[in-house]
Amino acid sequence: DQSVSTPLPVLGRDVRVPLVTGGEVTYAALDYAASAPALQRVWDDVAAYAPYYGSVHRGAGYLSQLSTDLFENSRAEVARFLGCREGDQVVFTRSTTDSLNLLASVLPADCRVFVFETEHHAALLPWREAQVTCLDAPRSPREAVQTLERALADREPYGPALVCVTGASNVTGELWPVKELAAAAHAHGARIVLDAAQLAPHHPVDITASDVDWVAFSGHKLYAPFGAGVLAGRADWLQEAEPYLAGGGASRKVLRRADGGVEVEWHATAARHEAGSPNVIGAYAIAAACKALREADFGRLVERERELIARVRAGLADVPQVRVLSLFGEDAPRVGVISFVVDGWNSSHFAAALSAEYGIGVRDGLFCAHPLVRTLLGADGGEAGECGAPEEGQSLNAIRVSFGAGTPDEHVERFVRAVGELV
Ligand code: PMP
Repeated sequence: DQSVSTPLPVLGRDVRVPLVTGGEVTYAALDYAASAPALQRVWDDVAAYAPYYGSVHRGAGYLSQLSTDLFENSRAEVARFLGCREGDQVVFTRSTTDSLNLLASVLPADCRVFVFETEHHAALLPWREAQVTCLDAPRSPREAVQTLERALADREPYGPALVCVTGASNVTGELWPVKELAAAAHAHGARIVLDAAQLAPHHPVDITASDVDWVAFSGHKLYAPFGAGVLAGRADWLQEAEPYLAGGGASRKVLRRADGGVEVEWHATAARHEAGSPNVIGAYAIAAACKALREADFGRLVERERELIARVRAGLADVPQVRVLSLFGEDAPRVGVISFVVDGWNSSHFAAALSAEYGIGVRDGLFCAHPLVRTLLGADGGEAGECGAPEEGQSLNAIRVSFGAGTPDEHVERFVRAVGELV
């Protein structure tokens, strides 16, 4: 397994796991969409910095100064990676979920939010119920744009609006027409936030070229360890709102009022929404991953991933009992995230067999995108529970295989062989 080169080496290449059939095998991590293994280079960078870390923005010592510089430089590196505009802010959060909840907390009064039912729950749920218009799953990128345009044109009264859309689906891997959706949003006076949790690890994201207002992503899907995420984009709504978290670091000046109350002036920088001691290691790791991806030839990574996708799809197509889930059809451009069901198999049992008999780690379930998976499985309206309550021999959940820059060919070959053998 070791002899297979990967474009960007990741941690865990040597991990051996036991098989129920006896013996052991090198673990094939094929669940990048949940969390990708960290890049070796990110790990090395973090390890090199670890002895020097100190408090950020709150220490006079050399290491505190150094950490403050590295933390702020990490923002600059993320801004470069995302192609941010002059004046855009990069806020460090805990995750994509946290970033979108932060944005939800700063919306202007009476802001309407438009989301497709196909979104991950992190993008579907943070908005207040009264504000949300949930749009039907489109069956093509063109239909997505038309659906959005119609919904925005119909909105009454014509006030502030936000569109939240994913760049790449965490279920089908399909790419969404982000630039066209952004143009539609702006033409109707709305803003748009891009959920790039699944896009950024597989595809360059350019906030300027795609003309989105904000981008959110998570470090642990972008080949950095857990614990940090990003919300980047326009400063105005962020700076006009109350802080997401109130506390030290977010406040510039705090006074005890004569009447016994407390008066506060908040920062107008990204720090406004980063109260408390920030996760300097998390931010540094994200920046290291951004740098590694920026310096790698992203075009080459995309090209190689395309070959892996073609191999997996061809392998699955060879097994007639397998049905790959897709909204936009065969030819839609996609990233390395593929969900499927197998006739006659409960998806959880199938995923468990891949692990126990082949040392392959995939995911089964509804992938925190219940409405989308139900639509794709034709199980609309059913009460499926967390992972579905499969009837005899039938799945109301699916199996997802996902991979990326650290995946050796052997993992994909083993997966294709395993599916065929199990069926
Ligand atoms: N959006 C998408 C498209 C995702 O795939 C995920 C993670 N599965 C999220 C948002 C949420 O990311 P996190 O769990 O890191 O907050």
